Amino acid sequence: MSGFVSRTALLFWRALRLRCPNCGQGKPFVSWFRMRARCPVCGLAFERGEEGYQVGSYMFNIIAAELIFAAIFLAAVIATWPTPPWTLLEVGGITLMIIIPFLFFPFSKLLFLAFDLAFRPAAHEELGPPGGNAPATRR
Ligand SMILES: [Zn+2]
Repeated sequence: MSGFVSRTALLFWRALRLRCPNCGQGKPFVSWFRMRARCPVCGLAFERGEEGYQVGSYMFNIIAAELIFAAIFLAAVIATWPTPPWTLLEVGGITLMIIIPFLFFPFSKLLFLAFDLAFRPAAHEELGPPGGNAPATRR
């Protein structure tokens, strides 16, 4: 069990550093929004070929955005109580809800992958030839 916990922590740590969660070496993103098809070091296919895989990472992104927004909103209300600037909070809140998913995009993809790898470690067949040829299409 402790092996699972430390392995999972390592996977998440690699994801937060925007490295391939599987090997910790490869850089999965060619730009903020463009992910390679495979890890250039270990060859792991980043889309693990399942229906709904994208949906999972988008859900992860939306939930994270909501939580970050809720934390900032609450902190702002508490800090300015008893006269919170409601209009500013409303406008700022909407702005954050739009910006956070973009800022968080590569992290959400890799954190979701790390989460998935924790429960389903990469099989030998998934580790294709490193290099990853062309980057994955923009989605
Ligand atoms: Zn890798």
